[in-house]
Formats: sequence, structure tokens, C-alpha cells
Amino acid sequence: MTTRPSCRDVELLALAGEDRELAAGERSLVEEHRRDCGRCRAFAADRLAIRAETAALRWPEPPDALVRKTRRLLLESAPEARPAVLPAWVLVAMALVAVATGLWLAVSLAGVTPDMTLADLPVAGLAAVLIIIQSALTLLFAPVVLRTVRARRGASESA
Ligand SMILES: [Zn+2]
Repeated sequence: MTTRPSCRDVELLALAGEDRELAAGERSLVEEHRRDCGRCRAFAADRLAIRAETAALRWPEPPDALVRKTRRLLLESAPEARPAVLPAWVLVAMALVAVATGLWLAVSLAGVTPDMTLADLPVAGLAAVLIIIQSALTLLFAPVVLRTVRARRGASESA
């Protein structure tokens, strides 16, 4: 038994048919429905008229001065033209701290075995676990913080 499609179903199928080829069954559903439904025939005629007018539209060419100005602004905002976010010595210091932290973690957690619980850990081991949790949280939230900082900087540069 086939149920008769509603006008809404037929409209949705007709709109889908503008982007893809309808299956034979879908096409016959739409055609059968339109045979008895003036509203859906009018909808199809309207869509045809709208698509024809849209296709006939010619988008205006932008003025040459606008094209040149846009190209110049894009070149000026190229990433290599911007100063580095952090000075080199800060990056070196951060790398040294990261290496030192890694070595300290390795030493602090050297005696830890899989059957140990947090309560069994020495104070240095607990501190090492806290550092690992803090680093994981920092990595998790770093993209959000960076995006916010860049957005603020972009807003203040364009103001
Ligand atoms: Zn209808």
C-alpha cells in the first residue's frame, strides 16, 4: 500500500530534485501528486521562474581600485610581515623548562609500579602526577585561549 505524499513532501522532493537527480519512484510520486494538486503545480512553476531569473543575473565586476586595494591589504597582512608572537629567548627558556620538567618527571616516577595507588606515591611522585594533570589541562584549553587572544588582537588591529 502506498500512502499519498503530502504537499510538503512533494515540495521537499522538488527542492531536492534541483540539487540531484530524483529516483524514478520519487519522480513519479511528484508527477502523480502534481496532476491533482494545483498548489504544487504553482509551486513548481514559481521555482522554475525563480531559477531562470537567478541564472540570468549577471554579478557586477568589482572596480579595479577595489581589487588593487584588497590585494595590497592581503599582502600587507601576510604572516611573514607580522612580528613574532614571543621573543626567541622566551621560546628557548620555555624549551629548557620543558626538558627539565621531563627529566624531573622521569626521576620522580622512576620507582612507580602499575600496582601502586596515589596513596603509595612519595611526595615527589604526587607532585609529578599533578604536573602531568596540569599539562594535560593546559594542552586541552590552549587552543581556546590562543583563539581568544588572536581574536582580540585582530579586533584591536582593525579598530
Ligand atoms: Zn500538493
